[in-house]
Amino acid sequence: MVDPTSDLGEDIDEADAPSCASCGSKIIQSPTHRVVTWVEDGSVRTQHFCSEECKVAAADEA
Ligand SMILES: [Zn+2]
Repeated sequence: MVDPTSDLGEDIDEADAPSCASCGSKIIQSPTHRVVTWVEDGSVRTQHFCSEECKVAAADEA
């Protein structure tokens, strides 16, 4: 069973697509899409990256 509200795979509107936290590109049906989640101040934070490269680049800046 797939939850249609959280599935990023199909029929996503560009306005609803996540942006890469590193380069700002809209991420739509990207096979290299990476999602990082962590807990901060008691709530779950999520960052999306268009590729492994951007994810690594963002980690390097921190
Ligand atoms: Zn990117």
